[in-house]
Amino acid sequence: MALRTAEEYKAGLRDDRKVYILGKKVPDVTVDPYIKVGVETAAFDFLLADHPGMHDLAVMEDPGTGEPISRYFELPDYPEVVAKRHELVKGACNVADGALPFVKDVGTDIINALTAVARVAGDKKYLDRITEYRRYCAVNDVALAGAVTDVKGDRSKKPSEQSSPDYYLRVVDETEDEIVVSGAKAHITASAYADEILVIPPRNMSEEDADYAVAFAVPVNTPGITQICRPSFRYEDTAHFPTPSPRRGHVEALVIFDNVRVPKERVFMLREWPAAQGLAYAFSAFHRYTAVTYKIPIIEYMTGLGMLAAEANGVHKASNIRERFVNMIRYTETTKALAKAAALDPQDFAGSGLFVANPLTSNMAKLHFASQFHDFVRDIQDIAGGLLVTQPTYKDWQNEDTRPYLEQYMGGAGEYNAEQRLKLMSTLHHVVASDFAGWHEVCSIHAEGSFATQKMMLLAEAPSKYYKDKARAMVGLDG
Ligand SMILES: Cc1cc2nc3c(=O)[nH]c(=O)nc-3n(C[C@H](O)[C@H](O)[C@H](O)COP(=O)(O)OP(=O)(O)OC[C@H]3O[C@@H](n4cnc5c(N)ncnc54)[C@H](O)[C@@H]3O)c2cc1C
Repeated sequence: MALRTAEEYKAGLRDDRKVYILGKKVPDVTVDPYIKVGVETAAFDFLLADHPGMHDLAVMEDPGTGEPISRYFELPDYPEVVAKRHELVKGACNVADGALPFVKDVGTDIINALTAVARVAGDKKYLDRITEYRRYCAVNDVALAGAVTDVKGDRSKKPSEQSSPDYYLRVVDETEDEIVVSGAKAHITASAYADEILVIPPRNMSEEDADYAVAFAVPVNTPGITQICRPSFRYEDTAHFPTPSPRRGHVEALVIFDNVRVPKERVFMLREWPAAQGLAYAFSAFHRYTAVTYKIPIIEYMTGLGMLAAEANGVHKASNIRERFVNMIRYTETTKALAKAAALDPQDFAGSGLFVANPLTSNMAKLHFASQFHDFVRDIQDIAGGLLVTQPTYKDWQNEDTRPYLEQYMGGAGEYNAEQRLKLMSTLHHVVASDFAGWHEVCSIHAEGSFATQKMMLLAEAPSKYYKDKARAMVGLDG
């Protein structure tokens, strides 16, 4: 099979998966008014091969058969692969109208992390299994979701110390050929419209937590898996002015595993609790870099929207507004520069022979993006004015009683007539002042790990000894 079309991807989602949204079971995720927004966004991962500007980046030859496969599944065993992936993720977002298609990147970040950990441990059994799984995904062009974050109950306690054993996903039974797992993973992006879910532990574990040290992959429609999705926006919302392409986005789910049977050939960690921390760390190294890369197209168009809002309001030459421009440019270009610097400095992860973007620099990039995002949004909100939240809707524009008033009163500066100004404000409302905008602000803080996780990696990866040795020599502490 090797490469699937977007239609083949969507057809594969019409199975007996158990997905709920707004209290109702979803018969077909491809047509549900909320979930289909995510399906259409994810489908871009299957359009890249036919995109003239993306084909060479998105497609490679299967090293075994020579057939075309998605480059997302490439083994990252040479340094230049990192810069290629940087361009692939950014390019995919640009093709997908600014959103990350998502169903190939987080999963392959997990596959890369599992491969690196198995290589470092010299564990042939797991290395063979994850190598076979990578191949299976490449040959069948599988759409993947990554389930790392558990529901976690009391954050100050380890899995085995929780008041409920179900607050972290765990092994509840085992036979010679399979394991049985129960628990729930929270906030899982695109799992309702992926083919398979890859599960890994999110943290360090102790011996008492051994049953929680488990990693595996299963098809989304495996009996015992139930997903409860949170609705985001829908195409049927006609209050916003239409845009040339529909708005893009994803849907997350609480994914419940109720006595789910997993064949052993799909198990990549089983009770090796000392390795859990290394796996979580490896995943962060591979994935945080993907994370900051896909933010770049988003903050580029948001910067542009802020600048256009200033033009529409006739304030683009005012010094207070130009100060906002400087903030937005500095924020966007610093994030881009840090991400690019990380890509151009690939590192052999833990001696595994697999390459990642410089983890110190990519965590700085992600922390910079996340810690300044709200200020960035504040600048755009300041420029655009109160119309961001009080604007009449597209429905009022379509109504012949109210449209003349809007034409009379809603015009802007220069060439911005009422329709153009309202169109611009409508998109700005979606991006910085809607429910979705609130989601985006929280996403910037927590998705791909909260601030503390990036700070931990900064402390772990920074050349602190080098800094101190320099200072010791300067002071003469060593005699
Ligand atoms: C939009 C979105 C999409 C996501 N997609 C995915 C996905 O596809 N797959 C996936 O696996 N996860 C996903 N996540 C989950 C994401 O990784 C988590 O939200 C993140 O790791 C934070 O976990 P939490 O939400 O449980 O918050 P918490 O862990 O409750 O964190 C809240 C605060 O408490 C602090 N804190 C937590 N524990 C401790 C502690 N022990 N000591 C001191 N401080 C602590 C944190 O630093 C933070 O400041 C997604 C999240 C969002 C918002």
